[in-house]
Formats: sequence, C-alpha cells, structure tokens
Amino acid sequence: MKIFISFDMEGVAGIVDWSQCTAPGQPYEEGRALLLGEVNAAIDGALAGGATQIVCNDSHGKMNNLNPADLHGRATYIAGRHKPLYMMEGMDESVDAVFFVGYHGSISGESSVLSHTYNPSVVSKVELNGIECGESGINALVALGCRAPVALITGDQQTITQGGPFFKDAERVVVKDSITRFAASQLHPFDAREKIAAAAERAVRRAAALTLPGIALPATLDVHLQTADMAQVAGWVKGVERIGTRTIRAEGDDPLAVFRSFVGVTYITRVAEGR
Ligand SMILES: [Zn+2]
Repeated sequence: MKIFISFDMEGVAGIVDWSQCTAPGQPYEEGRALLLGEVNAAIDGALAGGATQIVCNDSHGKMNNLNPADLHGRATYIAGRHKPLYMMEGMDESVDAVFFVGYHGSISGESSVLSHTYNPSVVSKVELNGIECGESGINALVALGCRAPVALITGDQQTITQGGPFFKDAERVVVKDSITRFAASQLHPFDAREKIAAAAERAVRRAAALTLPGIALPATLDVHLQTADMAQVAGWVKGVERIGTRTIRAEGDDPLAVFRSFVGVTYITRVAEGR
C-alpha cells in the first residue's frame, strides 16, 4: 500500500501569515514545525491503516521546508524547485492513494487564509469542467491520470468545500475556519494532528473502495490570467488554446497531458512581469 502525500503549508493549523510560510525568520521556523507536525500525523495515520510505503512531495514555495530526517515512517522526501509534475511530482501508477495535506483555498473563492491558485501574480481563476476549483482540483488530474483516488484532504473550510465536487468520498479534515485571507479560528495543533492521523488511518483502510477523482473526460481546464500579455504567451504552450483576452484553455482525454499544459503555463507566465 503506497501513499503519495502532496503537502502545502498555508492550510496548516496555526498558519495565518506569509511570514510563517517564507524563509528565513522565527515565524517561518514556527510555521515549518507546525507543517511537520501535520505531515507526520498523516504518515502516522497511514502507517496505522496499513500503508507500507510513503512518498512525500514538498509542494510549498521553494519546496524544501522540512528536515528529511524528521519525517516519520522512513518516508521518501521529494524536495526542491522546478519539478516537472510540480505539486504532484512523484506520482505514478504504483501509488494506491493520494493525500493532500495543508492545502488552501483558491484565489477566486471565498475568503481563505493565504488563498491563491499556483501563482497569485498570474492566475485569477481556474475552472475544471466549468466548476471553479483550487489547487486540489487541478492536482486531482494527476491522480486520475495515475488511476489513484484522493483519499484525504486537510485545510480550512473553504479548501474542503472547493475539493468537494472532485473527490466526494475522500476523508476531509478542517483544521481551521478562515475569517479573512489573514485570519482564522484554528484547532490547537495537537487536536489538528489527532484528527489528521485518524482520518489518514481511515483513508488507507478505505482506499481500495474509494472512487477515482470525479473529473469527466475529456477534461476542460480554463485558466483566467491577470493580463492579456500572460494569456498571449500561455497560448504558445503545447495543448493550450487562448479563448479570451485573458483566458486560456487546456482540454483533452488525457488528464496528465492537461495537467502538463497547465504546468507549462505556470512556468512560461512566471516571467511575464506580473501585474
Ligand atoms: Zn503553498
């Protein structure tokens, strides 16, 4: 039983500010300790549920936020920037279930702590098959492509709501209720970890019976960008069509190809000067 954990940081209990998510500094040191606690809780729960192999992909910022030796379960740690599958690097068909830990709300949705969708300077809204989505929906394309269910998602209440349409039977853990993009009512970190561990254990026990992400094929991913300049260059990416002044579309029967086009868009627009 192999578990793939894609973890972000903004959706961890105790985190409400960029200073906690950006090195260096004391707030960041506190933030990464909170992150480690939730990732290890997910690992502990997965092991209790019968997982035998854990792969963790650091999906936040420079993607090198943990001390590898601190990870439980002898987990493999995929770290570092510029990964071809980005937040889903390490996914393949050998994975039995996917966990999203510490995820956050989309840039276009209701107030959610530190909300964004991949690059906040570039992306203003994303729709998957016509449904507004955040990073969890986009990343679920890879889970679908590799024939693995999303078995667990953790974050604030908006994150859980936004993932709802795409993985209806996943275990969900709300660790905080966002009040604004910079405020939340939060579980104590120890309580958040207990809930995550219990949900991770249930997720692994249920994994074989869980359905694949509910994304009808061919999948259509519409990405609304901040400027026309960005849409112009994004339209040059393989598999991408510019369908509006600031909107591009990636579409197809292969969810991995749609995701790769999206990653190409994020990379090519990174140098388009922002707003
Ligand atoms: Zn992040």
